[in-house]
Amino acid sequence: MVGRLQGKNAIVTGAAGGIGLETTILMLCEGASVLMADISNAGLSKALGKVNAVVPPESRVGKVETRVVDVSKESDIEAAVAHLDAWGGIDVIFNNAGIMHAKDDDAVATPEAIWDLTQNINVKGVWFGSKHAVLGFRKHGKKRGSVINTASMVALVGAATPQLAYTASKGAVLAMTRELAIVHAREGFRFNSLCPAPLNTPLLQDWLGDDKEKRFRREVHFPTGRFGEAIEQAHAVIFLASDESSFVNATDFVVDGGLTKAYVTPE
Ligand code: NAD
Repeated sequence: MVGRLQGKNAIVTGAAGGIGLETTILMLCEGASVLMADISNAGLSKALGKVNAVVPPESRVGKVETRVVDVSKESDIEAAVAHLDAWGGIDVIFNNAGIMHAKDDDAVATPEAIWDLTQNINVKGVWFGSKHAVLGFRKHGKKRGSVINTASMVALVGAATPQLAYTASKGAVLAMTRELAIVHAREGFRFNSLCPAPLNTPLLQDWLGDDKEKRFRREVHFPTGRFGEAIEQAHAVIFLASDESSFVNATDFVVDGGLTKAYVTPE
């Protein structure tokens, strides 16, 4: 059987984390070659161990490699995209690396340094990834390319649990992705945003810890009564990366169990 991403070369940023790792695994299962990019070398080693356990080398069509990349540094992203030249050039980038800092708060309490750090990774990192994907697609004469940028549902609805720098950064991802999609549409390059709801990944769960009240403040808004799973985001990314979504462009692709459409949820 031919995989849905057969022959495609992809970069996944934040590949050592919850969504990035699950997406890497599904991409490999669908026949892609994947460069797992993350700032954490230790995280990448651990993630690669899981990849090899779930998709053993002998069962893969494509290859998988890891690379330490800080998405807020343009030279790191440029080199990661250039690394795929030897594979036949980039076809897909999932700009997924992001942070939600513990000191991120409301307008009064958020330190400026945390604001800057968050924008540098969550916004500038997505710009650099998008920019070098476009240059890579052009360099290899690609007639199609898919860029998926991770935003968040907090870019769509307001929350009384403030994380102002993070929320602003994800709003910027939505707006930037939309414009990129329109500018590059005639080249065949698609850009879509992924908007996850709160998930069972370290990014949120480490932060919530054992705080039952903090947890309930979020869980109560889910029509399904539960947080999402990283793999449920990964399935959406596979669709957006594949040619099945060839007429899906500039969307805020919301994977939230209905959260952003709910007023009162079931008891
Ligand atoms: P995660 O913390 O499990 O993974 C994030 C990964 O990004 C980590 O492996 C981390 O090392 C890496 N990273 C951090 N800074 C980096 C940098 N400068 N360069 C390269 N890599 C870097 O988080 P996750 O839940 O998998 O989140 C992935 C994306 O989804 C993020 O953009 C996040 O904002 C977004 N998101 C998450 C949730 C959630 O509830 N988990 C909800 C909405 C959106």
